[in-house]
Amino acid sequence: RKGSVIITGASSGLGLATAKALAETGKWHVIMACRNFLKAEKAAKSVGIPKENYTIVHLDLASLESVRQFADNFRRSGRPLDVLVCNAAVYLPTAKEPSFTAEGFELSVGTNHLGHFLLSRLLLDDLKQSDNPSKRLIIVGSITGNTNTLAGNVPPKANLGDLRGLSGGLNGINNSVMIDGGDFDGAKAYKDSKVCNMLTMQEFHRRFHEETGICFASLYPGCIATTGLFREHIPLFRLLFPPFQKYITKGYVSEEEAGKRLAQVVSDPSLTKSGVYWSWNKNSASFENQLSKEASDAEKARKLWEVSEKLVGLA
Ligand code: NDP
Repeated sequence: RKGSVIITGASSGLGLATAKALAETGKWHVIMACRNFLKAEKAAKSVGIPKENYTIVHLDLASLESVRQFADNFRRSGRPLDVLVCNAAVYLPTAKEPSFTAEGFELSVGTNHLGHFLLSRLLLDDLKQSDNPSKRLIIVGSITGNTNTLAGNVPPKANLGDLRGLSGGLNGINNSVMIDGGDFDGAKAYKDSKVCNMLTMQEFHRRFHEETGICFASLYPGCIATTGLFREHIPLFRLLFPPFQKYITKGYVSEEEAGKRLAQVVSDPSLTKSGVYWSWNKNSASFENQLSKEASDAEKARKLWEVSEKLVGLA
């Protein structure tokens, strides 16, 4: 049978490019988990994904109710699950005021981390039951959350502190709009959410790899300067960012190439090591990258797991 993979946020950018790369092999059926059905359908058609190789299922990560419904719907469909890719994200670098998810969590961390945390937990059993020897759970990370890199040192830097804001409910009441309890900063909230994604992947690995055989991985696909992720940024930034990445930092990667990289983490038989944060060098060869001190802090990962469980109603 074909492999069965769920990709969140497959309606644009990296998710769409990955869906295309996998569907084209003819070996995968891609479940595109998207908040905007029509946009996803148009996107799939526009890049020419063969009709028989994808299904679009509604998922709004900014609503835990929607996440639960998605998991129920998926289970009822009777499809097996071999790989789950947590890819969707919002980035609100110019927002002056915070926005909130349906349950009242700050939107960037609520969507990018808490929505995916619940989704992964709910689908873990389905992954466990897959007879595919290389079943995987992949959470897309980023260099920007890694303060051991140049890009990760552009202020505002990621910093989860002692998680007091998250423990306080991440709802804007009593200094709890940011994970560390600081003032709202949209760019930082995104970076913090990416640190959460990388910590979560490692905590999954520690808790479940041996028992389930599932391979847990994260990755930094390169700077895909052209995606919708930067849609909220000021026009001048959007104009200058792609050439800056292409010619100055040389970290630029096309959506197509980034999609191939993530598709590799989904299906390449040589990338089965669990607990790894993958990156690619100039020649597009994959390697196991080092995470920053905070993004590999096991004690913080455990605490993040426990607080997140409470917030999404699992504990
Ligand atoms: P895009 O904005 O192109 O894609 C993000 C996707 O997430 C879209 O499909 C979007 O849906 C979806 N999404 C947003 N909010 C929700 C929600 N509430 N529920 C469901 N889906 C949602 O950005 P990228 O492709 O660049 O980003 C993909 C991943 O890559 C992210 O995890 C990002 O952090 C990571 N990344 C990106 C880098 C880059 O340089 N671009 C670098 C490193 C990592 P819709 O189409 O409806 O808006």
